[in-house]
Amino acid sequence: MDKVIEVDYEQPACTTRHAWARVPEEPSQQERAALKDKIRRLLKEKNAVLVSHYYVHPDLQDLAEETGGIVSDSLEMARFGRDHAAQTLVVSGVRFMGETAKILSPEKTILMPDLDANCSLDLGCPVDDFAAFCDQHPDRTVVVYANTSAAVKARSDWLVTSSCALEIVSALKDKGHKILWAPDKHLGGYIQRETGADMLMWQGSCIVHDEFKAFELEALIQQHPGAKVLVHPESPAEVVALADAVGSTSAILNAARTMDAKEFIVATDNGMMHKLRQLNPGKTFIEAPTAGNSATCKSCAHCPWMAMNSLAGVARVLETGLNEIHVDPELIPRARQPIDRMLAFTAAHKAGQDAGALVPNIGAA
Ligand code: SF4
Repeated sequence: MDKVIEVDYEQPACTTRHAWARVPEEPSQQERAALKDKIRRLLKEKNAVLVSHYYVHPDLQDLAEETGGIVSDSLEMARFGRDHAAQTLVVSGVRFMGETAKILSPEKTILMPDLDANCSLDLGCPVDDFAAFCDQHPDRTVVVYANTSAAVKARSDWLVTSSCALEIVSALKDKGHKILWAPDKHLGGYIQRETGADMLMWQGSCIVHDEFKAFELEALIQQHPGAKVLVHPESPAEVVALADAVGSTSAILNAARTMDAKEFIVATDNGMMHKLRQLNPGKTFIEAPTAGNSATCKSCAHCPWMAMNSLAGVARVLETGLNEIHVDPELIPRARQPIDRMLAFTAAHKAGQDAGALVPNIGAA
């Protein structure tokens, strides 16, 4: 059963605390088994598939794979949901992932365990302010991260995820584009340093990755001199500078598999530890520090919104059809364009084709 907690904090606007207060209680072993059985049955009955992100509870990751769904990063979740034959997608993740699924598959029913599962990047980039920012810089190509609302996507030229942002921005730079980037300032800063592109930044951040601490990470590295450091680029620049490998969740998984080390220090949401340990049984994974001298009330390496997803929530929405994601039908064609551009670019890149040919020269768009 979900916790019911009265939230009366000094900062009532702190959505992070509200999210933590809504995190469901862990079911007992018996409840867990019963919920999994129920979900297996309902997925079949409702012609539905479970699509989970790497940051959600291990039960939801394992069940997605076991039932023919997927556990992945947001790019693969989007692609998988679009291409799967199921009529209903249950998206276990945060709101923008459900919205992206709806934009790509408007004819499908998209359900989410908790519609309030959000993202600080999405919340920190309201469309009216963002549109005004874009209007002030009409000479710039607007590139937004996947972690944004459908309305912000509809105001953009290109969508990127952390798996493909470097390649797409690099291709845009080569074709003469100046970029307006939103919303994550750390990911944007990393891409700017790597590509040398002219990028004007929105100042958003992820409350999870923003908390990783370079000072404490250096101390941890000294304690584990043989460990390789894997960092998600939503982390601050000082943390990224200490990395042996920087990349998306998929890139982190790949680095852990291929790098010659037995120990890894990992700076991303600790939901990733499940898949890292599952795929690399002989290796040790240590969470990068978020606490220490400069810890804040948000210091933990787990997203409170991702934590709102639960077996009980999945079973409930499959049973009732509640928590359906709706996107304004007028927005869908405009929001779909930047997503389709990204998917076409990444498909060409993966196939070894000249993905840069899909990027127009500036002035020729
Ligand atoms: S981990 Fe960060 S980027 Fe991911 S959903 Fe949570 S707040 Fe957003």
